[in-house]
Amino acid sequence: MTTRTTDAAPLLLRGGMVGGRRQDVAIRDGRIERIGGGLDAAGSQTLDVTDRLILPGFVESHIHPDKAYIADRTRGLSAGGPTPQTLVAELKKSFTVDDVYARARRVLEAAVRHGCTTMRAHVEIDEFVELRGVEALRRLQADFAGVLDLELIAFAQEGIFGDAVTKDLLREALKSGLTTLGGCPYMDADQRAHIDWFFETAQAFGVPLDFHADSGDDPAQLTTEYIAEQTIARGMHGRVTLGHLCMLDVLEPQHRARVIGRVREAGIHVISLPATELHVKARADARRTWRGITRIGELRDAGVNVSISTNNIVNPFTPYGHPDLLRQALITAMAAHLGNLEQLAWLPELFTINPARALGLANYGLAAGCRADLVVLDAHDAAQAITEQAEKLYVLKAGRVVAKNRRTNELALGRPD
Ligand SMILES: [Zn+2]
Repeated sequence: MTTRTTDAAPLLLRGGMVGGRRQDVAIRDGRIERIGGGLDAAGSQTLDVTDRLILPGFVESHIHPDKAYIADRTRGLSAGGPTPQTLVAELKKSFTVDDVYARARRVLEAAVRHGCTTMRAHVEIDEFVELRGVEALRRLQADFAGVLDLELIAFAQEGIFGDAVTKDLLREALKSGLTTLGGCPYMDADQRAHIDWFFETAQAFGVPLDFHADSGDDPAQLTTEYIAEQTIARGMHGRVTLGHLCMLDVLEPQHRARVIGRVREAGIHVISLPATELHVKARADARRTWRGITRIGELRDAGVNVSISTNNIVNPFTPYGHPDLLRQALITAMAAHLGNLEQLAWLPELFTINPARALGLANYGLAAGCRADLVVLDAHDAAQAITEQAEKLYVLKAGRVVAKNRRTNELALGRPD
């Protein structure tokens, strides 16, 4: 995609918290020129961000804008009722390009407001919606140039063996310029055949792969080991991403360690989607309702590149979803036993540098020479930002402020006497 280069004036962020210390960030020509104490502001616009936390721009690595904001078109999940896949498949038939565009645009605007500077979105392609979602998201890619980098995954939510058109439509989408191919093995009866087709097609087009994988709780259905084996055998180290991986949580510890080892060996990136897991999983369990979230801490400890992302927004998969990665960090802290002070300090990695690595972003981060995609939070450190769900005061894309947010409070406190 094309990103408009900024012609904004040089900018100095004065006194922000970078790497645990109060520092200035000098920005010129869309890039971070220098980070340090007491930098010269001459010739620069200055933003006073004293003691406010500065993070690199947030990265949504797994999100579905095309099926957002449709919760009011269906009754949602209920005991013994249809799956979210079934409910959404029916709704998709009536999606138009303009309808997808309007709903997805709302997602992108909210994401920018919440600090997202790069997004990799799934676009569903199948006999129900055909390429209408692709057309809408391609328009948004152009319309958000310079504000939000939007990468698109050609995604087979319905599987590929259930109709006669999806495989061709996926190829057509890749030819039209979509940059990642997305599979969903558990939607086809023959998961291995599904996985093989995606590897072969990704190799033919020279694009990376992203699978929705091992979302269930039956270890007999596990595909991650096979995907890792294929990744290694086909030389796609570092070019394969797995979303969900819920099944890791129900494996025996030794088996789990073996699978995690294979994931690391294959350089597979893992993306956890805690809000959706909490809403969808274990609805039929009579006791000990499984929460379905993959072993984020164990994956990280083993050296796997693990991220979190928003996934669904106001649809049957997550009716209360909202594209705010700081919210996902709080959900993760609560739901994945990651709330001690050390863990709260590194949680932002899961929606900044880790997904940036999964997407292969160049010049990303908080260092001289990196693109000035930044978020300034109304908190002095990550623990406070997550705990208080601090406001994102400024969102910068390539050195330009693309969102400003303020909260006001009025407290009427009597004087103690
Ligand atoms: Zn998804």
